[in-house]
Amino acid sequence: MLNPRPTSPELHVNLDALIANYSWFCAQAPNSKTGVALKANAYGIGMDAVGPALLEAGCTVFFVAHISEGVRLRRLLGSAPLIYVLHGAATGEVEVMLAHRLYPVLNSRPQIALWRNDGAGAPAALHVDTGMNRTGLPFAELPETKFDELNLQMIMSHLACAATPEHPLNEIQRDRFLQVTRQFPGIAASFCNSAGVLLGDEYHFDLTRIGIGLFGASPLHASLPPPPLTPVARIQAPIIQLKTVSKSETVGYGGTFCAPGAMQIAILAYGYADGLPRSVGATSFGWVGKTPTSILGRVSMDLTVVDVSQVKKPLEIGDHIEFLGPDLDAFAQSCNGEAYEILTSISPRVKRVYKREAS
Ligand SMILES: *Cc1c(COP(=O)(O)O)cnc(C)c1O
Repeated sequence: MLNPRPTSPELHVNLDALIANYSWFCAQAPNSKTGVALKANAYGIGMDAVGPALLEAGCTVFFVAHISEGVRLRRLLGSAPLIYVLHGAATGEVEVMLAHRLYPVLNSRPQIALWRNDGAGAPAALHVDTGMNRTGLPFAELPETKFDELNLQMIMSHLACAATPEHPLNEIQRDRFLQVTRQFPGIAASFCNSAGVLLGDEYHFDLTRIGIGLFGASPLHASLPPPPLTPVARIQAPIIQLKTVSKSETVGYGGTFCAPGAMQIAILAYGYADGLPRSVGATSFGWVGKTPTSILGRVSMDLTVVDVSQVKKPLEIGDHIEFLGPDLDAFAQSCNGEAYEILTSISPRVKRVYKREAS
């Protein structure tokens, strides 16, 4: 008999939950504009749906990492919103940036020189590194750097330790950033990612850059209580086979899991090639409703086996086991990872399904 039930995993995205999270961040920094960071295909969730949904919700400032992401976002959003490219401009990219009205974030003296020479006076942002030692013009180079003939629209810096509010580097960076803003009076200042917003008013400045929080993950260190965000994304991994194993049988490659007794197992069409980390451990769960199902043995490329012995309702081929959702942060921790990594690892072959589900 033909089996019409799904045999591929799907990522279900609730765009209303995304907008609720965006609004929550807007409310935390009511005197600032709330911009969003949609790099890496909007953290794996899908820029094509996420970008327009945020535009419709009133967002007017967008950040991406790569110029190609900026070009794609400009096509999706039309001409009105501001789009900043965090990695800045390189030789050979200036024309594309100008043609799509993408504003580079200038991170170094060579980038500043390039934009001054080739940028035709078009707007740009300046990123000053106040202590993260990643991108940005080093704070120490500020006094001897010339900013003439630049049309700077925004000054930014990025916090290294905002996930840990009591970390002393937060205040050190903020003090340095305050000095930077004094050198550029009247130019919009942007300092906070999702976690930074939670540090309080004195960190907010004019424009925030929200990423992970939009997708319902806590931006804070795992030891801290999470802010009240709404889960946005869940994986539905379909069951493609059901089996019983007896005591002492093993499951999967290498026979790493040995059944302590008779068990009901479900074989899922969901593996590491879909973005399920191989490091997922015995403390990670998929869910059937509120019933946890633990992963047995090694994750394969396209398949994973879970223990469904505790599931009360009779399962059928094509039913699904859910991953992420309200469990995203715990799931990430159980893989020794972060929600950032879990989301951006969801592979392109996982179909994205978008819904508006006001809760
Ligand atoms: C990714 C990124 C953000 C957003 O960070 P989240 O922690 O996801 O909120 C903000 N600013 C810069 C420079 C970034 O690279």
